[in-house]
Amino acid sequence: NYTLQLKEICKSYIRTDAQGVTVALENVNLNIKDGEFVTIVGPSGCGKSTLLRLVAGLIPPTKGSILLNGKPIKGTSPNRGIVFQEPTLFPWLTVEDNVSFSLKVQGKYKEKKEEVDRLINIIGLDEFRKSYPHQLSGGMAQRVALIRTMINEPEVFLLDEPLGALDAFTRMNMQDELLIMWKSNRHIMIMVTHDIDEAIYMSTRVVTMAPRPGKIK
Ligand code: ADP
Ligand code: ADP
Repeated sequence: NYTLQLKEICKSYIRTDAQGVTVALENVNLNIKDGEFVTIVGPSGCGKSTLLRLVAGLIPPTKGSILLNGKPIKGTSPNRGIVFQEPTLFPWLTVEDNVSFSLKVQGKYKEKKEEVDRLINIIGLDEFRKSYPHQLSGGMAQRVALIRTMINEPEVFLLDEPLGALDAFTRMNMQDELLIMWKSNRHIMIMVTHDIDEAIYMSTRVVTMAPRPGKIK
């Protein structure tokens, strides 16, 4: 039994010039079992980000269905966490409050408070817990964005090239941190990367997506 199933997914976007649509995905089928770490590689514009955003529930498919444990997904959920290439933190909240935000919304903060402290320590930002996003470097902000999603222990962890902008050292640390997290809970990871070595090092399966020239209809 597959945990996550994408069945005959199509996604088209209305073009900004209103001259028809851009077909981003056409008839995509993908079955992923619990415990798989899937990386997705492929050229710019082949639909990688679209695929992740669909699974996150940020956008609906034009056609097809996405099932999690056999049930169609509905909108977004902390159970399907996504981390983008650019860190997206709440600018008006401190590091600590960014990481705790969704726990507070879900009423889980008390039980997970120590985990917040532990993760902030792991990413080396103890001294920055009361800092605001604009006081952090890009790499620091990205580490915060990663643990902010990690703290929810999503059943499906979606990563859209989250390490691309990090320096080599931080990148290796975050790769290992992600692997430790994945090995501890064996949930599904789906990560887009442009780095084939990273894909081979990290994942149990590499999915390649083909470029789709002339896909504008
Ligand atoms: P996204 O996947 O988030 O849409 P892009 O595909 O536009 O991002 O690519 C992000 C960066 O990676 C860009 O600077 C782009 O030039 C570079 N890039 C895109 N495709 C490749 C590739 N196959 N190999 C290496 N770098 C790539
Ligand atoms: P990738 O992540 O592989 O670079 P994307 O999923 O970002 O690919 O994009 C796939 C195709 O859909 C591209 O042709 C892109 O221009 C188009 N696209 C993506 N997002 C939108 C959007 N919000 N509106 C219109 N077209 C989009």
